[in-house]
Amino acid sequence: MPLAQTKTSVPVIVDNEKCIADKGCTVCVDVCPLDVLAIDLLINKAYMKYDECWYCTPCEADCPTGAVTVNIPYLLR
Ligand code: SF4
Ligand code: SF4
Repeated sequence: MPLAQTKTSVPVIVDNEKCIADKGCTVCVDVCPLDVLAIDLLINKAYMKYDECWYCTPCEADCPTGAVTVNIPYLLR
């Protein structure tokens, strides 16, 4: 799986202001069937580690603070 180049060029974006991974939340990481999300242990926030996505969106739907945005490509909508 290709490693994500930067945290802003990937389809799944996490709003660090809203993410409460620093309080122990790992919901988005746990629900992702591809295991492409991870917690950045330097800042204790979730991020897309691998640039691979099924656009199934439980990460966005289940995040308790609405921190996750899945940008579904136009052709898949
Ligand atoms: S589910 Fe939301 S609050 Fe929890 S780790 Fe993921 S982005 Fe952060
Ligand atoms: S949309 Fe699905 S595959 Fe993509 S990061 Fe979220 S849970 Fe994982």
